[in-house]
Amino acid sequence: MDSVGPGWGSSVRVGPADVPFSSFAAKGETTMSPTDTVLMTPPTTDSAHRVAALNRNDKPFHVVLAQQFDRNTIEQLCQLADMIRSIGGSRQGTQFLRTMLSHRRAMLYFIQPSTRTFLSFTASCQIVGMPYNEVRDRSTSSEVKGESEDDTIRTFSQYFDLIIMRHPAEGFAEHVANMLNESTRAIPVINAGSGKDQHPTQALLDIYTLMRSFGEESGGESRAPAEPGAVGEPRTSVRAISGSPNGTRAIQPGARFHRNLFAGKTIAFVGDLKRGRTVRSLTYLLCRYPGVRLVFVSPPELRIGEDILDYVSRHGIEFEISDDVRSQLGEFDAVYMTRMQDEWDLNGESKSIAYDRYAINYEMAREFKPNLVIMHPLPRRHELDPRLDALPQARYWQQVRNGMWMRAAIIASLFNVDTAIRDHYYAYYTY
Ligand code: ASP
Ligand code: ASP
Repeated sequence: MDSVGPGWGSSVRVGPADVPFSSFAAKGETTMSPTDTVLMTPPTTDSAHRVAALNRNDKPFHVVLAQQFDRNTIEQLCQLADMIRSIGGSRQGTQFLRTMLSHRRAMLYFIQPSTRTFLSFTASCQIVGMPYNEVRDRSTSSEVKGESEDDTIRTFSQYFDLIIMRHPAEGFAEHVANMLNESTRAIPVINAGSGKDQHPTQALLDIYTLMRSFGEESGGESRAPAEPGAVGEPRTSVRAISGSPNGTRAIQPGARFHRNLFAGKTIAFVGDLKRGRTVRSLTYLLCRYPGVRLVFVSPPELRIGEDILDYVSRHGIEFEISDDVRSQLGEFDAVYMTRMQDEWDLNGESKSIAYDRYAINYEMAREFKPNLVIMHPLPRRHELDPRLDALPQARYWQQVRNGMWMRAAIIASLFNVDTAIRDHYYAYYTY
């Protein structure tokens, strides 16, 4: 089998994961998209087998399921994302990063609508110098001549070194990864959104955003200045390294990601939790952090899947199901808003749901904790009042930018250039 180098194997272990990796297990969701023509139900084997098939040397070879990421891998990626953003702040640093993967090529196969994730991945490829190509519409591929999707993807695997894909069918990215594992040219697959099931790179950028926010006192996300009359004081962040190239101020990506920043924190997920894949994936990651408390707030019709609640219970994470965002708003340390995922409706059933109750607006801001972190995977609708954007609690625009650095870190790690980036960082950005 001719595999193209990636493997995450070169990373330095920086601390023990809190839960043994092999103990993770989850059920696959089996619901289908109304647009699916091919039944692509994820394999029903337990997730330890599924994860093992996607990993090599206990590290992700493909990035398909959030369950592949243990705490150590999450924290290394956050640290690497911080290093890339620091190095990318200077001209020389940007040029260095662009040499990292200029010898590899990526295929972006995005046949489900996307603006943000698509552009985020193209920007990430550009950061690490990886040329890419794209297919965004099946009608421009040989599928219109009757070629199977499997054959289309096998063709990509002959030209490219990485496939980044968004697809409406749950389980299809996993199927592709398993198919390529058996092929003569195994290349990694990154799942950039699979049906209603998973969006693991969004979950990684989300956890990166939460960690930068919660770890702020030791140099994390800086908040926008508060508008006059805004609720909550901005906290200042101390970023104390000078002497980097071009006088760029580097962030010390040190120990802060390796503490359990989630212990004692309450994180609320609000909205369409039944069909929103980002919340599902992020919940898997948060189960690596004992002491976190999760509140799933949704209309009764759109509750989070039982498979996720089983997973949360099995990991000893405290959670609550609620249908009222207002009553506990003042207790939340983070609130993750989501839009109605009505593209999955079968008969317009979303129209009868009172979604206005699952919104936050400017008038509610007086109830926010000063250090609340408001997130949204975007695009937003009425559930998140744009007047909140000016508040220090609003983190969703930083969240978008964090995604670009995190995805660059994911790609760099897949191709084992993370060590070269770390070495460069320590050589030139610290003393
Ligand atoms: N529907 C999402 C959006 O337009 C998909 C994405 O871009 O990631 O943001
Ligand atoms: N952009 C996210 C996704 O692709 C969230 C959403 O579309 O609501 O899942």
